[in-house]
Amino acid sequence: MSAIQNNVESASAAYSAEFTKGHLALPPAKKYLVVTCMDARIDPAQAFGIELGEAHVIRNAGASALDALRSIVISEQLLGTTEIVLVKHTGCGMLTFANDAAYDIVDKNLGAEALGELKDRKLDFLAFPDLEQAVKDDIEFLKGTRLVPETVTLSGWIYEVETGKTRRVV
Ligand SMILES: [Zn+2]
Repeated sequence: MSAIQNNVESASAAYSAEFTKGHLALPPAKKYLVVTCMDARIDPAQAFGIELGEAHVIRNAGASALDALRSIVISEQLLGTTEIVLVKHTGCGMLTFANDAAYDIVDKNLGAEALGELKDRKLDFLAFPDLEQAVKDDIEFLKGTRLVPETVTLSGWIYEVETGKTRRVV
């Protein structure tokens, strides 16, 4: 067993020994969802004030609304959420490269067949050069897509990994 697997086992033993929230309902109690980055420095529950069972947290590289769309539709249409809080962050890896560079890295590290699959899937890594603009663009995307009803409340934020603060952009 790897050290990581050991950690899961020991953490689970301690967590479940104290666990008292087995009665929580499936739909998020506060009827909202958060889209944020997979960055290891973000603790959404602590930083954004989310108690267990209150909200969906959808994470991906860069907090991309487009990448999260499948989960957003499930959250809203099947599980009743009516508000989206989108949080990107300072120091995001997605600010550091462009699509071409990511394609080159896949080609170099994984080979031509992997690159071919990437092209077949038309995978866009959804990197962005400007953080504030990317938050605004994602909110505009959510306003524009027919898969998100106009009645859904939207806001866009930036979490600062340096200070732990989250500030509103839109
Ligand atoms: Zn990030």
